[in-house]
Formats: sequence, structure tokens, C-alpha cells
Amino acid sequence: MDFRLTAEQEQFRDAVRGFAEKHLAAGARERAHASGYPWDVAKLMAQQGLLGITIPEKDGGQGGTLLDAVLAIETVASVCPRSADVVQAGNFGPIRVLAEYGSAAQKQTHLRKLLTGEAVISVGMTEPDAGSAVTDLKTSARKDGDGWRISGSKIFTTHSAYADVFLVYVRFGPGVGGIGSVLVEKKDVKLGKASKFMSGEEWAQLYLEDVRVPQANVLLGEGGFKKQIAGFNVERIGNSARSLALGRYAYEAARAWAMERKQFGRLLCEFQGLQWKFADMKMKLDAAQLLLYRAAANADRGLPSPEETAIAKAYCNQAGFDVANESLQVMGGMGYSQESLVEYCLRRCRGWMIAGGSIEILKNRIAEHIFERSFSQRP
Ligand SMILES: Cc1cc2nc3c(=O)[nH]c(=O)nc-3n(C[C@H](O)[C@H](O)[C@H](O)COP(=O)(O)OP(=O)(O)OC[C@H]3O[C@@H](n4cnc5c(N)ncnc54)[C@H](O)[C@@H]3O)c2cc1C
Repeated sequence: MDFRLTAEQEQFRDAVRGFAEKHLAAGARERAHASGYPWDVAKLMAQQGLLGITIPEKDGGQGGTLLDAVLAIETVASVCPRSADVVQAGNFGPIRVLAEYGSAAQKQTHLRKLLTGEAVISVGMTEPDAGSAVTDLKTSARKDGDGWRISGSKIFTTHSAYADVFLVYVRFGPGVGGIGSVLVEKKDVKLGKASKFMSGEEWAQLYLEDVRVPQANVLLGEGGFKKQIAGFNVERIGNSARSLALGRYAYEAARAWAMERKQFGRLLCEFQGLQWKFADMKMKLDAAQLLLYRAAANADRGLPSPEETAIAKAYCNQAGFDVANESLQVMGGMGYSQESLVEYCLRRCRGWMIAGGSIEILKNRIAEHIFERSFSQRP
């Protein structure tokens, strides 16, 4: 077993670092606090080949590996945490489900714009009454001639304010087997009142009021749920990578601070109480990184295993948050202030403990693998 990156991976990481330092270092703080999507960053990343890293070249991607995409998130985030979201959107989220399962026509219509950084796609799964119990979703697809009528509502959809197209989970019929997904264009979605997460990211409730979509917009029909979740495991890897990367960003800021800030006539790094915090943080970051790399490196055709993904995500989410929190503490008032990006990293990491499968739900999945049986959560 070799824990080192290959020469190509090192080269790729160095190239991403060079790009990030040249284009993203200036303005990293402003970007973190700005609303809206950093379209300028998306276009630059498209030119650099950082969108569609894992998407086959025949579909306009780079034909790289999931680990390459993880390296891109980590490296970009180490310079500009907010820009890591653009790597996520262009590699890990619904774009990957579209690339994996979409028809040639769907890819032709949507993928090109997503890969050039001109558009972004959102995934609408969560509903007011179907959060962790996502298979309770009610948004329905009713047959209408040669197309479908979609009715329902979605909440907490990331990028909802500016997405071009939505991958909407719908119910074609009863039960888990009745769930599939359709592509709905922005013009057909009614947005509710604008809201914000604690992270500052915008979201708005989506209302689909008897929206007609042609058969060509069905991405995965009845029985597609399992495939969607396989695609969604990729999203979870990106989510894990950002948790780890933002935790690490905060840690590096705190480490630099501890080597320069003096109190009681000594550098902070000379106090044992703080040294032990750093030792704990370093162990968590290293452990999280190994779990994340295992899940990404073992991915089969770019799709990671559910068990390794669940372990990586639950651990990275917790580690990222814990490390950002301790880093903030080490930096005192400066960590709590917007003068540094540490408070931003903490707020972002908090959200990923809930988004994309909460830590509790992932632990339920891990337990099922341990005991090789499923445990119904229903009364
Ligand atoms: C930052 C952010 C971005 C998001 N982006 C999107 C998006 O782009 N698209 C989308 O569709 N959704 C998105 N979501 C929604 C997200 O997927 C849901 O918030 C998540 O699935 C949890 O659902 P809920 O909020 O309804 O909480 P609930 O399901 O009501 O859960 C509440 C609490 O109970 C716990 N819990 C629930 N059931 C169990 C159980 N069986 N065992 C143990 N604990 C349990 C949960 O872990 C949680 O702590 C986003 C959420 C956040 C925070």
C-alpha cells in the first residue's frame, strides 16, 4: 500500500495551486461574504479544466478520477474557501448524475453550459415533509399525453436562486420503486421568498405547479432511485472534501496565528494547552483525509461505495467542524471576527453536518453495514 500521491496527481495539484494563487487568492474574503454565485470564478475554472474533471472526454469533461476532483477541491479551498463550491458544482453534484445517466440529448442541452461555467444545476430532493425520510417525497409526475405534469414543492435547494436547470426528484408511482427524476427548466419553477442559510448561501422554496415536461426531460424513470443515490454518493464525497478542506483552512490560519501572536510575553504555540489542541486537530485532519481518499480512490467507474462514502462523510463533517471550532478558539476575537475566514469556515462546516445526509442518518447507514441488515426507522 502506498499513501503517497502519484507524480501525475502531484503535478495536477501543483497546477491547481498555481491557478488558485494567481486567480483566486485576491478577493477570497470578499467572495466568502458576497451573495450570488461566483460566475467569474466558474468561467476561469472552466478554462483551467476544473469543471467536469471526472466526466468522460466524449461528454466534454476531462476524463480524470474522483480523487483528482477531491484534490482540486482541497487545493482551491486552501486558497479561497468559497471557490471550492464551484469545483463542487462542476464535478460532484447533480452534474455527475446528469453525466452518468442522462440521454445524449439531455447532455447536449445542459452539460455543455455547465462545463463552460455559464450555468449551474440544482438538485431538488428535500420537501417540507420529506427531509431525512427523503423517500416520503410527494412531488408527483402524472402522465399527460407524451409528457408529464409535475406538481409539488422543494426546500433548501442549494443554488435555487440562480440555477439554470433543476434535477427534481419526483414520484411516478407509489413506494421507493416509484421514485425517479426529471429535469425542469428555471422558467418553469416558481421561487418562494428568498432565504439564507447560516453560511450566507441563498435558497428559496421551489414551487412546481402542474409544470408540463416532455418525456425527453425524464432523467431516471420509475425505479431510478437507487441509481440516483449511487450518483448522490459522489456529491457526498465533494461535501466531505469541502468539510475537510475548510477545517484545514481554519487550522492553517490558527497555526500561523499561534506562531506569531504573543500573550504573557510568549508565543501562543508555546502554551501546552494550545499545543494539545493542535495535536488533536492534526490527528482529526489526517484521519479524515485517509478516509476520504480511501472512498475516492476505491470508487468504481467514479462511483464510490455507499459504506466508505458514509464513513468518510460522517467523519469529515465532524472533523471539519471540530477543527474549525477549535481553530476559532485558538484565534480568540480575531477568529470570531470577519477579519479572518475562520468564522466563515465554521459556519460552512456546520451546514455539511446536515446537508446531503446528516451525520445521524449516515451513522444509521454505517450500522446497517456493520450488522448486515436494514433497520427500519419507521414506527
Ligand atoms: C447547507 C444545506 C444545503 C442543502 N442543500 C440541499 C439541496 O441542494 N437539495 C436538497 O434537496 N436538499 C438540500 N438540503 C436539505 C438537506 O438534505 C436536509 O436538510 C437533510 O436531509 C435533513 O432534513 P431536514 O432538514 O428536514 O431534517 P429532519 O429530517 O427533520 O431531521 C432533523 C434531525 O433529526 C435527525 N434524524 C432524522 N431522522 C433520524 C433517524 N432516523 N435517526 C437519527 N436521527 C434522525 C436528523 O439527523 C436531524 O439532526 C440542504 C441542507 C443544508 C443545511
